[in-house]
Amino acid sequence: MISYQVDDRNIGVLTLDHPHKPLNILSAASFEELERLLTGLALGGPTGSPGQDRPPVGLIIISGKADNFIVGADIKVFAGFRTAADGVQASRQGQRIFGLFAALPFPTVAAINGTCLGGGLELALNCTSRLISDHPKTALGFPEVKLGLLPGASGCTLLPRLVGLQAALDMMLTGKNVYPYKALKIGLADEIVSAPALLGAAKERVLQLSAGRVVIAKRRKPLVARLLDGPLKPVVYRVARKQVLKQTGGRYPAPLEILKVVRRSLGRRLPAALELEAEGFGRLSATAQHKALTHVFFAGSGKGKLPAEPVAVSRLGVLGAGLMGTGIATVALDKGITVRHKDIDYQALGRARGHIQKYFQGRVKKRILASRETGLTLTHYSPTTDYSGFGRVEVVIEAAFEDLELKRHLIAELEAVVAPETVIATNTSSLPIAQVAAGAQHPERIIGMHFFSPVEKMPLVEVITSKATNALTLATTVKLGRRLGKTVIVAQDSPGFYINRILTPYLNETFKLLEDGIPVDLLDRHVRRMGLPVGPCTLLDEVGLDVAGRVAGVMAPFIGRRLEMTDHNQRFTEDGRLGRKNGHGFYTYSQGKKGPVDAAVYQLLDHPQRRTIPYEQVRDRLLGALYNEAAYCLDEGLIDSASAGDVGAIYGFGFPPFLGGPYWAMDQLGLPALVEQLSRLAQEHGSRFTPAPPLVKRAAAGEWYHPVN
Ligand code: NAD
Repeated sequence: MISYQVDDRNIGVLTLDHPHKPLNILSAASFEELERLLTGLALGGPTGSPGQDRPPVGLIIISGKADNFIVGADIKVFAGFRTAADGVQASRQGQRIFGLFAALPFPTVAAINGTCLGGGLELALNCTSRLISDHPKTALGFPEVKLGLLPGASGCTLLPRLVGLQAALDMMLTGKNVYPYKALKIGLADEIVSAPALLGAAKERVLQLSAGRVVIAKRRKPLVARLLDGPLKPVVYRVARKQVLKQTGGRYPAPLEILKVVRRSLGRRLPAALELEAEGFGRLSATAQHKALTHVFFAGSGKGKLPAEPVAVSRLGVLGAGLMGTGIATVALDKGITVRHKDIDYQALGRARGHIQKYFQGRVKKRILASRETGLTLTHYSPTTDYSGFGRVEVVIEAAFEDLELKRHLIAELEAVVAPETVIATNTSSLPIAQVAAGAQHPERIIGMHFFSPVEKMPLVEVITSKATNALTLATTVKLGRRLGKTVIVAQDSPGFYINRILTPYLNETFKLLEDGIPVDLLDRHVRRMGLPVGPCTLLDEVGLDVAGRVAGVMAPFIGRRLEMTDHNQRFTEDGRLGRKNGHGFYTYSQGKKGPVDAAVYQLLDHPQRRTIPYEQVRDRLLGALYNEAAYCLDEGLIDSASAGDVGAIYGFGFPPFLGGPYWAMDQLGLPALVEQLSRLAQEHGSRFTPAPPLVKRAAAGEWYHPVN
C-alpha cells in the first residue's frame, strides 16, 4: 500500500495507495509497512543502511487515491479485542508508529486530498505541517466516538495541543468532520491549495521548512481562544460535560472518557499523556457499548451482494412535490442525479424549488459546497405538471398521496410514458406493494421504496419487494438507495413492512401505559431516558396522529387481536387531534412551538386517573412488546437477517444505538431471560406479551440471533 520515492531535489514522497480497494484503510499490514519504512528513514534512508542512503531533506505523505487520504484504521481489528489490555496494547502500538513521523530528523508534510479520518488524521497530526486541498471530498475528523472509542493513536493527546481545547473537544465529542476552511481557521491545516497543485505546494513547504524559512510557529490565537485554553479551561470542561450528559443521558461512556483523558493529560509531558490516552482507549474498547456500536457500523455499512447487475441511475423522475417528494428530489440532486419533478399543483412545485434552493444555500454557508456548484446543481432540476421527460428516466419514485386508487392510477399513467425497463418505486408507508402493482402491465418492475421523514436527515430506506418484483428492479433500487447515501434494508411485502410492524406494538403499548394512568410527559421522559431521541407521545404528534392511525388501521386486521390493539389512535384523530401539524395533539402548540401537555387528552383515555409508573416497568413493557414482534418478523422472513433488523430499527425510528438494535439487545439480555420476562408481563398485563413461539424455540435451543455475539 505504501511506496517511497525521492525526487531530484531529494524530497522523499511516501504515497499511500491500497492496490485493490477504493479507500486507504490502515490495516495491521500497513502499520508494519510504515514502521519498516520509517525506521529505515530514521536511520538515514529507506533501506536503513547507513552509508548507502542519503537522508531526504524532508518527507511528504500523500495519497494515490483521487478522493481519500486515509479513512481510518481497520475497524475489524478493534472488534477482535477481548480485554481492555488488548486495547491498551493496540493504542500504544499506534502511538509508537505514528510517533516515528514526529521523530524523523527532517520536516514532514501531510498533503491531504479527500477524506482524512481517525488514524489518517492521527498520522497527519504527527507531521510537521498539514496542507489540504479544496477538493469537495476533503474532510478531516475523528469519528471514533461514534464507535464508542476515543482517538487512541495519539489523536486525543495531540489535537487539543494543536487546535485548542474547545475546537478539539468539539471534533472528538461529536465525531463531526471539519471541512477545509474551518480546518484552516482552527489551525488544523496550515494551507489550502487546489488538488492538482497539492504535491507541488507540499514540496515547496518541505524546502522552506528544511531551509528554516518557515517555522510553523504557534500562531497567536485570538484572545477568546487563549482564555478558553487558559483560565477558563474548567468552564469549558464543565459546559462540555453538561452537554454530553444532556445529549447522551450518560449512556455512552466514550465522550465522558474523552473528556476525562483530555482533562488529565493536557499540560502533561507527552509520554505520560499518551499513556493516559492508551488506558482510556483500553477501557472503552472493552465496553458493551463499543461492541454494540461496532456491530451497528458493520451491519449498516452492508454493501451486500446485489441479485443482478443494477442499472446506474443518472435521471430520476419524482411524482409528488409534497414533504417526501421534495426531500427525495433534494437528496438525489445532492448526489448528482438529474431530477424531473412532477406534481399537479404548481404551487407545490414552487415550494419544492424554494426548499431545494434553501437546502443548497445551507450547504454553501457551511462551506461544504461552493456557490458555483449550487448553481450547477440547480440546472439538473426541472419541475413539470405533465409527463414530458419521463421517457428518459431510469427510475421514477412516486410520492403522491397515500391512496391506493391514486397510486394505481399513477402507475397506469407512468407505464404509458416511461421506457419499458424503467423501475417504478412507490414511497408508500403502508400499502401492500402487491396491491399497488395489481393491474400494472409490468408488476415485475414495481417496488416499494419507503423513505423516512425528513428525507435529507433520516439515514434509512426500506425497500419492499412484492412476489412479482424481479431481481433487476431490486438491484437497481437498492443501488439507488445507497447512492442517495442511505442504509438500505430489504423487507418483504407484508402489512407495515418491517419498521411499522415493530413500531406498532411499541405505540400500542404506549396507549396501554396511558390507559394505566401514566402522565404523557412522564412517559416521554422515561423513554428518552431509555435512549430514544423522542418519547412516543411526541413522536405521534410529529408523525401525525392521523397518519399513525392509518398505519394502525392497516395493522389491526393482521396482528390487532394478538396485540390487544387499542383504538385510541383513531379516537384522537376523531377528536381533531392530528398532532403538531394542526397544533392539537398530546401537547399544546403555539406558533409551531411545543408547549405543555394538553390536559384534555386524559378525557379521551379510558382511565383518566393519573399515576406514576416506574421507569423499569415502562422500559420492559415498551421494549418487550417490540422485541416480541421482532422475533415474529425474522421468523416470517420479513427481513433477511437480524443485522438488517438491527440497523432498520436504529436508523428507521431511533432505537438506541448503544443497545445495538433489537436482536443484538435480545442476545445481551439472554433469550431465556427475555422469555421469562415476557411471560411475567403476560401474566401481569395481558396475553399480548405471550412470548413469540419462534423466540421460545430459539431460547430453548440455546441459539442466539447473532451467533458470534
Ligand atoms: P404530501 O401531502 O406532503 O404531498 C403529496 C403531494 O402529491 C402533493 O404535493 C400533491 O399535490 C401531490 N399529488 C397528488 N396527486 C398527484 C398526481 N396525480 N401527480 C403528481 N402529484 C400529485 O404527502 P407526503 O407526506 O409527501 O407523502 C407522500 C407519500 O409518502 C405518501 O404515500 C405517504 O404515505 C408516504 N410517506 C410519508 C411519510 C411522512 O412522514 N410524511 C413517510 C414515509 C412515506
